[in-house]
Amino acid sequence: MSTRKKILITGAAGFLGSHLCDRFIKEDYHVIAMDNLITGRLKNIEHLFPLENFEFYNHDVSKFIHIPGELDFILHFASPASPIDYLKIPIQTLKVGSLGIHNCLGLAKAKNARLMIASTSEVYGDPQVHPQTEEYWGHVNPIGPRGVYDEAKRFQEAITMAYHTFHNVETRIVRIFNTYGPRMRLNDGRVLPAFIGQALRGEDLTVFGDGSQTRSFCYVDDLVEGIVRLLHSDYAQPVNIGNPNEISISDFAEEIIQLTGTSQKVIYKNLPLDDPKQRQPDITKAKEILNWEPQIGRAEGLKRTYEYFQSLTDAELNEKDHYNFDKFIIK
Ligand code: UDP
Repeated sequence: MSTRKKILITGAAGFLGSHLCDRFIKEDYHVIAMDNLITGRLKNIEHLFPLENFEFYNHDVSKFIHIPGELDFILHFASPASPIDYLKIPIQTLKVGSLGIHNCLGLAKAKNARLMIASTSEVYGDPQVHPQTEEYWGHVNPIGPRGVYDEAKRFQEAITMAYHTFHNVETRIVRIFNTYGPRMRLNDGRVLPAFIGQALRGEDLTVFGDGSQTRSFCYVDDLVEGIVRLLHSDYAQPVNIGNPNEISISDFAEEIIQLTGTSQKVIYKNLPLDDPKQRQPDITKAKEILNWEPQIGRAEGLKRTYEYFQSLTDAELNEKDHYNFDKFIIK
């Protein structure tokens, strides 16, 4: 009998899920990876397929989940995670954050496993408190284009706390702020792959609005370290994990121009509806409880990320997303 701890990771073929698979394989866990491949890609985890302590289930977690044998941990990371994805697949976004988490919690209860959910800074909406602390309840438009994601994640936190208090399930809630790194999908519409893709294709960089809105970008390895520490802590309340180093989107575009050496310029487009104006995590809790703070600055993180995007094939680089985003832009 193997003494390895067993962990189920949902959304395992996605950007964050695949990095979590790598981390737990490195720590000699038995990793059960689950994904329905709507937004995830097998390419992100195919290097793990030959390993005896890795298995993959092509399964939609909003349907009943069956895992034979014992299970120690569940990381529920399945979800579309970019504004363009929620617009394309709003119902699946709602289902994975409601039916999906319900199935995962039922599984955690049955197996006596500890469960962590991937929550998000989107629970704060377009925040009126800056930087955002875990105590802030948020400013969310439930029926706007981001509502399907924001409300699913808020429901996910609510049901997770209910299983924790009512059924004594061991739960952890990580509120993830903007994260970047290798394996982001080039065409998911998020700002970093958008800008780097445009630079690599020789297109102008599209800044939405006047570019004064801010974000705070965390390198994926830092995020993964924070997640591992939170998982092994005894803290069941939500914890922000992100890099507090805040930058405006127009300054970020300039950084990408410097990084890539592109001779293209910035062009301005209309700001999407409900686009948060400011976002910066307050990470006091993560520092105090987990002794965690980010180690990798943007210069180093962007360098590593750019190397990944440079390694893509021309076909991957030119793959377009044919979805019409314009109808959701304020005219
Ligand atoms: N953005 C932009 N140009 C793009 C894509 C995004 O200016 O081509 C902006 C977007 O309007 C937002 C910020 O970049 O203000 C971050 O967008 P992203 O979709 O990466 O994530 P969000 O933090 O908004 O969920």
